Amino acid sequence: MTLRGRIAVVGAGFAGSVAAWRLAEAGLEPVLFDRLPEPGSEAACGGVMLRSLGEHLGMGEVASQPVDTVHILGGRRPRTLRFRRPVFVSFDRGALDRDLALRAVAGGADLRPGCRVTDWHPTTGELGWTEDGRMHRERFRAIVFADGPRTLAAAGGLGVDPGSPEGGAMYRELRIPEGDRSWISFSFTMAADDPGYYWVFPKGGRLQVGVGRLHGRRRTPLRTLLDRFIAGDPRLATLPVAGSRGGIIPFRPARTFGSVNAMVVGDAAGLVNPLTGGGLVYAAASGEMAAAALVWAERRGEDGAAAALRYADRLERSVHMAWLRVLQVPFTSQHRRVASGRPTLYRPLCLLYAMILPRLTPLADAITLRGPRGGNP
Ligand SMILES: Cc1cc2nc3c(=O)[nH]c(=O)nc-3n(C[C@H](O)[C@H](O)[C@H](O)COP(=O)(O)OP(=O)(O)OC[C@H]3O[C@@H](n4cnc5c(N)ncnc54)[C@H](O)[C@@H]3O)c2cc1C
Repeated sequence: MTLRGRIAVVGAGFAGSVAAWRLAEAGLEPVLFDRLPEPGSEAACGGVMLRSLGEHLGMGEVASQPVDTVHILGGRRPRTLRFRRPVFVSFDRGALDRDLALRAVAGGADLRPGCRVTDWHPTTGELGWTEDGRMHRERFRAIVFADGPRTLAAAGGLGVDPGSPEGGAMYRELRIPEGDRSWISFSFTMAADDPGYYWVFPKGGRLQVGVGRLHGRRRTPLRTLLDRFIAGDPRLATLPVAGSRGGIIPFRPARTFGSVNAMVVGDAAGLVNPLTGGGLVYAAASGEMAAAALVWAERRGEDGAAAALRYADRLERSVHMAWLRVLQVPFTSQHRRVASGRPTLYRPLCLLYAMILPRLTPLADAITLRGPRGGNP
Protein backbone atom coordinates (compact mmCIF):
# COMPACT_ATOMS: atom_id res chain seq x y z
CA MET A 1 0.00 0.00 0.00
CA THR A 2 1.40 3.40 -0.95
CA LEU A 3 -0.37 5.19 1.89
CA ARG A 4 1.90 3.46 4.42
CA GLY A 5 0.15 2.77 7.69
CA ARG A 6 -3.52 2.22 8.12
CA ILE A 7 -6.48 4.48 7.47
CA ALA A 8 -8.80 5.09 10.43
CA VAL A 9 -12.45 6.05 10.24
CA VAL A 10 -13.73 7.36 13.59
CA GLY A 11 -17.47 6.69 13.93
CA ALA A 12 -19.51 3.96 12.25
CA GLY A 13 -22.56 6.20 11.80
CA PHE A 14 -23.97 7.03 8.39
CA ALA A 15 -21.05 9.14 7.14
CA GLY A 16 -18.29 6.93 8.59
CA SER A 17 -19.76 3.68 7.33
CA VAL A 18 -20.27 5.06 3.83
CA ALA A 19 -16.62 6.25 3.81
CA ALA A 20 -15.35 2.90 5.15
CA TRP A 21 -17.48 0.95 2.70
CA ARG A 22 -16.17 2.93 -0.29
CA LEU A 23 -12.58 2.62 0.97
CA ALA A 24 -13.01 -1.13 1.44
CA GLU A 25 -14.52 -1.48 -2.04
CA ALA A 26 -11.34 0.11 -3.40
CA GLY A 27 -9.18 -2.33 -1.41
CA LEU A 28 -7.90 0.11 1.22
CA GLU A 29 -9.12 -1.87 4.29
CA PRO A 30 -9.73 0.91 6.83
CA VAL A 31 -10.11 0.45 10.58
CA LEU A 32 -13.65 1.56 11.50
CA PHE A 33 -14.01 2.57 15.15
CA ASP A 34 -17.26 3.05 17.02
CA ARG A 35 -17.75 3.63 20.72
CA LEU A 36 -20.98 1.59 20.65
CA PRO A 37 -21.00 -2.22 20.91
CA GLU A 38 -23.38 -2.22 17.93
CA PRO A 39 -23.18 0.55 15.31
CA GLY A 40 -26.45 2.41 14.85
CA SER A 41 -27.91 1.22 18.16
CA GLU A 42 -28.20 4.77 19.52
CA ALA A 43 -28.72 6.68 16.27
CA ALA A 44 -31.21 9.50 16.86
CA CYS A 45 -32.85 10.20 13.55
CA GLY A 46 -36.24 10.99 12.10
CA GLY A 47 -35.45 8.48 9.39
CA VAL A 48 -36.51 10.34 6.28
CA MET A 49 -34.23 10.78 3.32
CA LEU A 50 -34.37 11.55 -0.36
CA ARG A 51 -35.42 8.51 -2.28
CA SER A 52 -32.64 9.15 -4.77
CA LEU A 53 -30.10 8.84 -1.94
CA GLY A 54 -31.50 5.42 -0.99
CA GLU A 55 -31.31 4.38 -4.63
CA HIS A 56 -27.77 5.70 -4.99
CA LEU A 57 -26.63 3.64 -2.01
CA GLY A 58 -28.61 0.61 -3.16
CA MET A 59 -30.63 0.67 0.07
CA GLY A 60 -33.89 -0.43 -1.52
CA GLU A 61 -34.61 -3.12 1.07
CA VAL A 62 -33.87 -1.05 4.16
CA ALA A 63 -35.28 2.24 2.90
CA SER A 64 -38.48 0.94 1.45
CA GLN A 65 -41.35 2.97 2.82
CA PRO A 66 -42.15 5.78 0.38
CA VAL A 67 -43.48 9.04 1.77
CA ASP A 68 -46.11 9.90 -0.79
CA THR A 69 -48.03 12.57 1.11
CA VAL A 70 -46.83 15.63 2.99
CA HIS A 71 -49.28 17.53 5.14
CA ILE A 72 -48.15 21.06 5.86
CA LEU A 73 -50.03 22.30 8.87
CA GLY A 74 -48.35 25.67 9.48
CA GLY A 75 -49.40 28.96 7.89
CA ARG A 76 -52.88 30.30 7.32
CA ARG A 77 -54.32 27.20 5.76
CA PRO A 78 -53.15 23.59 5.81
CA ARG A 79 -51.94 22.08 2.56
CA THR A 80 -51.49 18.55 1.40
CA LEU A 81 -48.94 17.62 -1.25
CA ARG A 82 -49.20 14.27 -2.97
CA PHE A 83 -46.40 12.91 -5.10
CA ARG A 84 -46.87 10.66 -8.06
CA ARG A 85 -43.26 9.61 -7.62
CA PRO A 86 -42.35 9.92 -3.92
CA VAL A 87 -39.31 12.13 -3.35
CA PHE A 88 -38.68 10.89 0.21
CA VAL A 89 -38.53 7.48 1.86
CA SER A 90 -38.86 6.67 5.54
CA PHE A 91 -36.64 3.99 7.13
CA ASP A 92 -35.24 2.51 10.31
CA ARG A 93 -32.02 4.42 10.86
CA GLY A 94 -30.41 1.81 13.14
CA ALA A 95 -30.90 -0.89 10.50
CA LEU A 96 -29.47 1.39 7.84
CA ASP A 97 -26.30 2.14 9.82
CA ARG A 98 -25.79 -1.54 10.61
CA ASP A 99 -26.26 -2.50 6.97
CA LEU A 100 -23.68 0.05 5.83
CA ALA A 101 -21.15 -1.02 8.48
CA LEU A 102 -21.58 -4.65 7.41
CA ARG A 103 -20.99 -3.73 3.78
CA ALA A 104 -17.72 -2.10 4.86
CA VAL A 105 -16.76 -5.28 6.74
CA ALA A 106 -17.68 -7.47 3.76
CA GLY A 107 -15.29 -5.35 1.66
CA GLY A 108 -12.44 -5.83 4.12
CA ALA A 109 -12.84 -3.03 6.69
CA ASP A 110 -11.77 -3.87 10.25
CA LEU A 111 -14.83 -2.86 12.32
CA ARG A 112 -13.97 -2.20 15.96
CA PRO A 113 -17.23 -1.85 17.92
CA GLY A 114 -17.00 -0.80 21.55
CA CYS A 115 -13.83 1.24 20.89
CA ARG A 116 -13.98 4.83 22.03
CA VAL A 117 -11.44 7.08 20.37
CA THR A 118 -10.19 9.43 23.07
CA ASP A 119 -7.76 11.80 21.40
CA TRP A 120 -5.95 12.81 18.25
CA HIS A 121 -2.53 14.41 18.07
CA PRO A 122 -2.41 16.42 14.86
CA THR A 123 1.36 16.86 14.99
CA THR A 124 2.14 13.13 15.20
CA GLY A 125 -0.99 11.78 13.44
CA GLU A 126 -1.62 9.50 16.42
CA LEU A 127 -5.03 8.35 17.63
CA GLY A 128 -5.67 7.05 21.13
CA TRP A 129 -8.56 4.72 21.89
CA THR A 130 -9.84 2.43 24.61
CA GLU A 131 -10.75 -1.18 23.89
CA ASP A 132 -11.66 -3.76 26.56
CA GLY A 133 -10.67 -1.26 29.22
CA ARG A 134 -7.17 -0.82 27.81
CA MET A 135 -5.64 2.22 26.18
CA HIS A 136 -4.18 1.91 22.68
CA ARG A 137 -2.27 4.33 20.52
CA GLU A 138 -1.29 4.21 16.87
CA ARG A 139 -0.09 6.54 14.17
CA PHE A 140 -2.46 6.37 11.23
CA ARG A 141 -1.58 7.50 7.79
CA ALA A 142 -4.94 9.17 7.36
CA ILE A 143 -7.98 9.66 9.58
CA VAL A 144 -11.59 10.31 8.58
CA PHE A 145 -13.48 11.85 11.51
CA ALA A 146 -17.16 10.89 11.32
CA ASP A 147 -17.84 11.18 15.04
CA GLY A 148 -20.66 13.73 14.99
CA PRO A 149 -20.86 17.39 15.99
CA ARG A 150 -18.63 17.03 19.08
CA THR A 151 -15.79 15.78 16.91
CA LEU A 152 -12.33 15.05 18.30
CA ALA A 153 -10.94 16.64 15.15
CA ALA A 154 -11.46 20.00 16.89
CA ALA A 155 -8.09 19.29 18.56
CA GLY A 156 -6.51 20.13 15.20
CA GLY A 157 -8.81 23.05 14.32
CA LEU A 158 -10.93 20.85 12.06
CA GLY A 159 -14.68 20.30 12.01
CA VAL A 160 -17.60 22.05 13.62
CA ASP A 161 -16.56 25.21 15.40
CA PRO A 162 -17.55 24.64 19.06
CA GLY A 163 -18.98 28.20 19.21
CA SER A 164 -21.18 27.97 16.10
CA PRO A 165 -24.99 27.83 16.30
CA GLU A 166 -26.59 24.50 16.84
CA GLY A 167 -30.10 23.26 17.26
CA GLY A 168 -31.74 20.19 18.59
CA ALA A 169 -34.32 17.62 17.66
CA MET A 170 -36.23 15.14 19.72
CA TYR A 171 -38.87 12.53 19.07
CA ARG A 172 -41.08 9.98 20.75
CA GLU A 173 -42.15 6.71 19.23
CA LEU A 174 -45.76 5.75 19.86
CA ARG A 175 -47.17 2.28 19.28
CA ILE A 176 -49.68 1.80 16.48
CA PRO A 177 -50.91 -1.41 14.83
CA GLU A 178 -48.27 -2.96 12.53
CA GLY A 179 -48.55 -1.68 8.96
CA ASP A 180 -51.13 0.98 9.83
CA ARG A 181 -50.58 3.70 7.20
CA SER A 182 -53.81 5.54 7.91
CA TRP A 183 -51.76 8.11 9.81
CA ILE A 184 -50.55 11.17 8.04
CA SER A 185 -47.45 10.19 6.09
CA PHE A 186 -45.41 13.20 6.98
CA SER A 187 -46.60 16.23 8.84
CA PHE A 188 -44.76 19.49 8.75
CA THR A 189 -45.94 22.25 11.00
CA MET A 190 -44.31 25.19 12.72
CA ALA A 191 -44.07 25.72 16.43
CA ALA A 192 -46.02 28.78 17.43
CA ASP A 193 -43.70 30.02 20.17
CA ASP A 194 -40.29 28.68 19.08
CA PRO A 195 -39.04 28.58 15.50
CA GLY A 196 -38.95 24.96 14.43
CA TYR A 197 -41.15 22.21 13.07
CA TYR A 198 -42.82 18.97 14.03
CA TRP A 199 -43.07 15.74 12.13
CA VAL A 200 -45.38 12.75 12.40
CA PHE A 201 -45.02 9.63 10.33
CA PRO A 202 -45.56 5.91 10.62
CA LYS A 203 -42.86 3.22 10.56
CA GLY A 204 -44.15 -0.30 10.81
CA GLY A 205 -45.77 -0.63 14.23
CA ARG A 206 -44.57 2.77 15.44
CA LEU A 207 -45.51 6.34 14.87
CA GLN A 208 -42.67 8.79 15.22
CA VAL A 209 -43.57 12.23 16.51
CA GLY A 210 -40.72 14.70 16.63
CA VAL A 211 -39.77 18.33 16.98
CA GLY A 212 -36.77 20.10 15.53
CA ARG A 213 -35.75 23.59 16.48
CA LEU A 214 -33.25 26.32 15.94
CA HIS A 215 -31.85 27.12 19.38
CA GLY A 216 -30.42 30.59 19.84
CA ARG A 217 -32.65 31.55 22.72
CA ARG A 218 -33.67 28.33 24.37
CA ARG A 219 -37.10 29.31 25.56
CA THR A 220 -39.25 26.23 25.92
CA PRO A 221 -37.47 22.89 26.35
CA LEU A 222 -37.91 20.52 23.39
CA ARG A 223 -39.46 17.92 25.68
CA THR A 224 -42.18 20.37 26.71
CA LEU A 225 -42.90 21.36 23.11
CA LEU A 226 -43.22 17.72 22.15
CA ASP A 227 -45.45 16.82 25.09
CA ARG A 228 -47.71 19.77 24.27
CA PHE A 229 -47.91 18.78 20.63
CA ILE A 230 -48.84 15.18 21.47
CA ALA A 231 -51.32 16.20 24.16
CA GLY A 232 -52.93 18.64 21.73
CA ASP A 233 -53.91 15.90 19.28
CA PRO A 234 -56.45 13.45 20.72
CA ARG A 235 -55.37 10.78 18.20
CA LEU A 236 -51.77 10.94 19.45
CA ALA A 237 -52.43 11.56 23.14
CA THR A 238 -53.85 8.09 23.80
CA LEU A 239 -51.09 6.07 22.08
CA PRO A 240 -48.59 4.21 24.33
CA VAL A 241 -45.02 5.56 24.23
CA ALA A 242 -42.44 3.03 23.02
CA GLY A 243 -39.32 5.18 23.39
CA SER A 244 -37.83 8.58 22.88
CA ARG A 245 -34.56 10.00 21.64
CA GLY A 246 -32.92 13.27 20.70
CA GLY A 247 -29.68 14.90 19.67
CA ILE A 248 -27.95 18.08 18.68
CA ILE A 249 -27.83 19.38 15.15
CA PRO A 250 -24.92 21.51 13.92
CA PHE A 251 -26.21 24.35 11.79
CA ARG A 252 -23.08 25.84 10.31
CA PRO A 253 -20.48 24.12 8.11
CA ALA A 254 -16.96 23.88 9.52
CA ARG A 255 -14.33 26.37 8.45
CA THR A 256 -11.77 23.65 7.72
CA PHE A 257 -12.65 20.22 6.32
CA GLY A 258 -9.20 18.71 5.97
CA SER A 259 -5.61 19.30 7.06
CA VAL A 260 -2.58 17.37 8.30
CA ASN A 261 -3.58 13.72 7.99
CA ALA A 262 -7.28 14.14 8.78
CA MET A 263 -10.63 15.06 7.27
CA VAL A 264 -14.10 15.59 8.74
CA VAL A 265 -17.33 14.27 7.22
CA GLY A 266 -21.05 14.43 8.02
CA ASP A 267 -22.14 16.13 11.25
CA ALA A 268 -18.49 16.41 12.31
CA ALA A 269 -18.11 18.83 9.39
CA GLY A 270 -21.38 20.63 10.22
CA LEU A 271 -22.99 19.48 6.97
CA VAL A 272 -26.68 19.79 7.79
CA ASN A 273 -29.51 21.62 6.07
CA PRO A 274 -30.11 24.47 8.56
CA LEU A 275 -33.79 24.78 7.67
CA THR A 276 -34.80 21.14 8.05
CA GLY A 277 -32.02 19.58 10.15
CA GLY A 278 -31.58 16.91 7.44
CA GLY A 279 -27.99 15.71 7.22
CA LEU A 280 -27.99 12.24 5.69
CA VAL A 281 -27.46 13.29 2.10
CA TYR A 282 -24.44 15.42 3.09
CA ALA A 283 -23.11 12.69 5.39
CA ALA A 284 -23.13 10.20 2.50
CA ALA A 285 -21.75 12.70 -0.03
CA SER A 286 -18.88 13.81 2.21
CA GLY A 287 -18.11 10.20 3.21
CA GLU A 288 -17.85 9.27 -0.46
CA MET A 289 -15.71 12.31 -1.28
CA ALA A 290 -13.30 11.57 1.58
CA ALA A 291 -12.96 7.96 0.40
CA ALA A 292 -12.47 9.10 -3.20
CA ALA A 293 -9.70 11.51 -2.17
CA LEU A 294 -7.89 8.74 -0.28
CA VAL A 295 -8.21 6.31 -3.17
CA TRP A 296 -6.90 8.98 -5.54
CA ALA A 297 -3.93 9.65 -3.25
CA GLU A 298 -3.22 5.93 -2.96
CA ARG A 299 -3.12 5.54 -6.73
CA ARG A 300 -0.72 8.45 -7.13
CA GLY A 301 1.54 7.63 -4.24
CA GLU A 302 0.53 10.76 -2.28
CA ASP A 303 0.29 10.93 1.50
CA GLY A 304 -2.70 11.49 3.81
CA ALA A 305 -2.10 15.24 3.96
CA ALA A 306 -2.48 15.57 0.19
CA ALA A 307 -5.68 13.51 0.33
CA ALA A 308 -7.05 15.75 3.12
CA LEU A 309 -6.41 18.91 1.11
CA ARG A 310 -7.89 17.41 -2.04
CA TYR A 311 -11.00 16.32 -0.12
CA ALA A 312 -11.48 19.80 1.39
CA ASP A 313 -11.10 21.40 -2.01
CA ARG A 314 -13.52 18.97 -3.69
CA LEU A 315 -16.11 19.42 -0.95
CA GLU A 316 -15.85 23.23 -1.11
CA ARG A 317 -16.53 23.12 -4.85
CA SER A 318 -19.34 20.57 -4.66
CA VAL A 319 -23.01 21.19 -5.41
CA HIS A 320 -23.75 20.13 -1.82
CA MET A 321 -21.67 22.94 -0.33
CA ALA A 322 -23.12 25.45 -2.80
CA TRP A 323 -26.60 24.47 -1.64
CA LEU A 324 -25.68 24.61 2.05
CA ARG A 325 -24.13 28.07 1.58
CA VAL A 326 -27.32 29.28 -0.10
CA LEU A 327 -29.36 27.98 2.83
CA GLN A 328 -27.03 29.74 5.27
CA VAL A 329 -28.31 33.11 4.05
CA PRO A 330 -31.91 32.80 5.33
CA PHE A 331 -30.70 30.76 8.29
CA THR A 332 -28.20 33.39 9.46
CA SER A 333 -30.71 36.22 9.20
CA GLN A 334 -33.30 34.23 11.15
CA HIS A 335 -30.77 33.10 13.72
CA ARG A 336 -29.91 36.74 14.46
CA ARG A 337 -33.58 37.47 14.99
CA VAL A 338 -33.97 34.49 17.32
CA ALA A 339 -30.89 35.50 19.28
CA SER A 340 -32.23 39.02 19.79
CA GLY A 341 -35.76 37.86 20.63
CA ARG A 342 -37.36 39.32 17.49
CA PRO A 343 -40.07 37.41 15.60
CA THR A 344 -38.67 35.30 12.80
CA LEU A 345 -39.65 34.51 9.24
CA TYR A 346 -38.66 30.92 9.85
CA ARG A 347 -42.20 29.71 9.57
CA PRO A 348 -42.97 31.12 6.10
CA LEU A 349 -39.46 30.20 4.96
CA CYS A 350 -39.92 26.57 5.96
CA LEU A 351 -43.34 26.47 4.41
CA LEU A 352 -41.95 27.79 1.18
CA TYR A 353 -39.09 25.33 1.34
CA ALA A 354 -41.34 22.36 2.11
CA MET A 355 -43.65 23.24 -0.73
CA ILE A 356 -41.04 23.98 -3.35
CA LEU A 357 -38.36 21.34 -2.81
CA PRO A 358 -40.42 18.18 -3.22
CA ARG A 359 -41.86 19.55 -6.44
CA LEU A 360 -38.42 20.09 -7.87
CA THR A 361 -37.44 16.46 -8.12
CA PRO A 362 -34.58 17.16 -10.51
CA LEU A 363 -33.09 19.63 -8.01
CA ALA A 364 -33.53 17.12 -5.18
CA ASP A 365 -31.74 14.56 -7.32
CA ALA A 366 -29.01 16.99 -8.23
CA ILE A 367 -28.20 17.65 -4.58
CA THR A 368 -28.06 13.95 -3.94
CA LEU A 369 -24.96 12.11 -4.98
CA ARG A 370 -23.40 12.56 -8.33
CA GLY A 371 -20.07 11.85 -9.87
CA PRO A 372 -17.39 9.20 -9.71
CA ARG A 373 -16.90 6.84 -6.80
CA GLY A 374 -13.32 6.42 -5.86
CA GLY A 375 -11.96 7.84 -9.10
CA ASN A 376 -10.86 11.37 -9.78
CA PRO A 377 -12.10 13.32 -6.79
C1 LIG B 1 -33.59 13.71 16.38
C2 LIG B 1 -32.92 13.85 15.03
C3 LIG B 1 -33.63 13.53 13.88
C4 LIG B 1 -33.01 13.63 12.63
N1 LIG B 1 -33.73 13.27 11.52
C5 LIG B 1 -33.16 13.31 10.29
C6 LIG B 1 -33.86 12.88 9.14
O1 LIG B 1 -34.99 12.42 9.21
N2 LIG B 1 -33.24 12.96 7.94
C7 LIG B 1 -31.96 13.42 7.81
O2 LIG B 1 -31.45 13.49 6.67
N3 LIG B 1 -31.26 13.82 8.89
C8 LIG B 1 -31.82 13.76 10.14
N4 LIG B 1 -31.10 14.16 11.24
C9 LIG B 1 -29.68 14.52 11.07
C10 LIG B 1 -28.87 13.23 10.85
O3 LIG B 1 -29.26 12.27 11.81
C11 LIG B 1 -27.38 13.51 10.95
O4 LIG B 1 -27.03 14.53 10.05
C12 LIG B 1 -26.58 12.23 10.64
O5 LIG B 1 -26.82 11.28 11.64
C13 LIG B 1 -25.10 12.52 10.55
O6 LIG B 1 -24.42 11.29 10.42
P1 LIG B 1 -22.93 11.15 10.94
O7 LIG B 1 -22.48 9.80 10.54
O8 LIG B 1 -22.13 12.33 10.55
O9 LIG B 1 -23.03 11.24 12.54
P2 LIG B 1 -23.70 10.22 13.55
O10 LIG B 1 -24.84 9.54 12.94
O11 LIG B 1 -23.91 11.01 14.80
O12 LIG B 1 -22.59 9.11 13.81
C14 LIG B 1 -21.48 9.36 14.64
C15 LIG B 1 -20.92 8.01 15.05
O13 LIG B 1 -19.68 8.22 15.70
C16 LIG B 1 -19.63 7.43 16.87
N5 LIG B 1 -18.73 8.12 17.78
C17 LIG B 1 -18.89 9.35 18.33
N6 LIG B 1 -17.83 9.66 19.09
C18 LIG B 1 -16.98 8.60 19.02
C19 LIG B 1 -15.69 8.33 19.61
N7 LIG B 1 -15.07 9.22 20.39
N8 LIG B 1 -15.11 7.13 19.34
C20 LIG B 1 -15.72 6.22 18.53
N9 LIG B 1 -16.93 6.43 17.96
C21 LIG B 1 -17.54 7.61 18.19
C22 LIG B 1 -21.08 7.37 17.36
O14 LIG B 1 -21.32 6.24 18.18
C23 LIG B 1 -21.84 7.29 16.03
O15 LIG B 1 -22.01 5.95 15.61
C24 LIG B 1 -31.67 14.08 12.52
C25 LIG B 1 -30.96 14.42 13.67
C26 LIG B 1 -31.57 14.31 14.92
C27 LIG B 1 -30.79 14.68 16.15
